[in-house]
Amino acid sequence: MDAQRSVRRQISCVGIGLHSGNKVNLTLKPAPADFGVRFRRTDLGDHEVPATAQNLGGIQLATGLASNEVAVETVEHLLAALVSVGIDNLIVELNSPEVPIMDGSAAPFIYLIHEAGVKRLQTPRKYLKIVRPIAISRGDKRIALFPSDHFKVTYSISYDHPLLRHQSRTVRITEESFADEIAPARTFTFLKDVEKLRQNGLALGGSLENAIVLGETGVLNNALRFEDEFVRHKILDAIGDLALIGYPVIGHLVAHRAGHALHTAFAVKILEETHAWRLVEAPVDIATPAAVGLPAHGVAARLAN
Ligand SMILES: [Zn+2]
Repeated sequence: MDAQRSVRRQISCVGIGLHSGNKVNLTLKPAPADFGVRFRRTDLGDHEVPATAQNLGGIQLATGLASNEVAVETVEHLLAALVSVGIDNLIVELNSPEVPIMDGSAAPFIYLIHEAGVKRLQTPRKYLKIVRPIAISRGDKRIALFPSDHFKVTYSISYDHPLLRHQSRTVRITEESFADEIAPARTFTFLKDVEKLRQNGLALGGSLENAIVLGETGVLNNALRFEDEFVRHKILDAIGDLALIGYPVIGHLVAHRAGHALHTAFAVKILEETHAWRLVEAPVDIATPAAVGLPAHGVAARLAN
């Protein structure tokens, strides 16, 4: 049985909110099977905000959730870490509206989950298996899911900047490939946008400690963690945003120049398109006729660095 998971014991960390600049305490606590992931605002009477597409709130530069006017912001990096490690059920306590930004990547959350330990529960996990393509686009921004035997992501980006005119990567997402190739990739921003953000009261906690900042010709940080760290971070964001579906996905996600607004609109669309998927209990459903005729491992999913 592919069992649902939670954490073995509770664990806490302290960080700052990227936009508010405020100090935040984050605590991950074990939860029972079929509980899902729920944020709990300890500063607001333990009000809970389940991490589901139904609770999507403000989508500006990060993904926010809201329930009964209680908000939780910048959830995507933590959610990407949870779905990739296979944590289905969890209480995430926060004493502030924002999940701490940590170093701008998902790596500190992977570390935190491993420190807490993973606990297998006695209930099978359900996966959302794509059986027909689903796609949406806005202008030249596109995102789609196609049937596949695995969860893999192909992402491409292009900007009017010498360092990232075009980057593209395909990764078959497993716990290991996510931790090694995607989780360490940091969020990025352009120096020319930073002042604008600050004037609007955003990115007040932002610094070279938690974001890659692109100047006119290069990055202000000392070094990149990967040559194509930018597109890897977009893959991270997409995985975190799609986690709001509530089930791990089995399918091939293909996105071009998308962002949080399109990722989250797509999560809502997927849940509406019930004919395009079904819930299965094992990641590889051998009895599926839909799998026949598809190349099993036709694409070199893990490209060399
Ligand atoms: Zn991000």
